[in-house]
Amino acid sequence: MSLVTTPTSQLTTCRQCTGTRVTHITMTLTDGSVVDFASCHTCEHKSWTESGAGLEVSTVLKRAQKIKKAA
Ligand SMILES: [Zn+2]
Repeated sequence: MSLVTTPTSQLTTCRQCTGTRVTHITMTLTDGSVVDFASCHTCEHKSWTESGAGLEVSTVLKRAQKIKKAA
């Protein structure tokens, strides 16, 4: 038995070095927004995108925090 994990449905290309050894993860942040995280194995460039638009890391971190309801 062999385990093969190759998510090839969508080939992600690194914006930095145009390499294709990119780990691509889709996740949902605390505020419910769905974002894509891509990490390049070649140059270690990391990027966040939402619906194809780039996101700043600080924005992602803010959204990943627990939302406090105003009292
Ligand atoms: Zn790269």
